[in-house]
Amino acid sequence: MEVIFNTNERIRKLAGIWDMFGPPNSIGRMIARHANYFGDTVYAAAMISEKLDEIIDNLAKKHIRRGTVWASLLDRNIANLKKPRRVREIISSLDNLDVHLEDERSNHFKRITKELRKSAKSNEKEMAKWVTKIFGFELPQSIDIVLNTAPIAQHFSNGSAVSYDPFIITLDFYKYRKSVLAVVIHEVLHSLIRKHRSLKEKPRNGVRAFEEALLDYFVPDGMLAEKLGFVHKLDVKQLQKKTEVNRRWASRESKKLLPTMEEYYKICGQETIWSFLRKKGFEEVR
Ligand SMILES: [Zn+2]
Repeated sequence: MEVIFNTNERIRKLAGIWDMFGPPNSIGRMIARHANYFGDTVYAAAMISEKLDEIIDNLAKKHIRRGTVWASLLDRNIANLKKPRRVREIISSLDNLDVHLEDERSNHFKRITKELRKSAKSNEKEMAKWVTKIFGFELPQSIDIVLNTAPIAQHFSNGSAVSYDPFIITLDFYKYRKSVLAVVIHEVLHSLIRKHRSLKEKPRNGVRAFEEALLDYFVPDGMLAEKLGFVHKLDVKQLQKKTEVNRRWASRESKKLLPTMEEYYKICGQETIWSFLRKKGFEEVR
């Protein structure tokens, strides 16, 4: 899995907007509705977010994937795609949006990219092996990582899975942690679950609580993290307690999964999590 650090300014701005109005714990839709009270930048960001949502909805009706929009902003894989007017509008709005982006030549940026490339390479074989054993997935050939620039990130997400065609994830620039690769794998797994339609769950208020609760049992701190050596001696109960605090919005699903996850922990990788969950009667699994 090749890691490409994408420093395209449009994509970095778009990733920031995505983080502002997209994931749980973000400042959210209410502020987007009243964005004119929060200054020009927030207002412009809300408009871009709205346009992006519209495009994604329209494309979904035509069975074009949301990744296509991101790909066209990346200016890649677009040989057969004429940029729709709305995409051109977003591009010009992004170019006019005056926000501070951290310098990608800074030491901090260099440190995080160097470590991630190195650890992706040295863990490649084990990662591929365990992702196949547990989830039945093959890792993508390459992923684009967009480093995000939120300086107060403690209460926000570490990253987010933006698209699986092409694979694009965002990662927090400041939320540096030792096993940053574990956060990347978490996001890549979100993308793979959606790509393979492994779960029936539809997002509620933009959130897939079951998918999130399930992944939290594996990585960045769970069973897969233990297999890869990021965690020593996992305590599944303790992990559940911790993730319940961090993700209150998925706590019902997390609790429901706990006894099954404690059982799966004993045979982790001997059969895929999907067949195990199906046997246990989880109707969320396709
Ligand atoms: Zn997640």
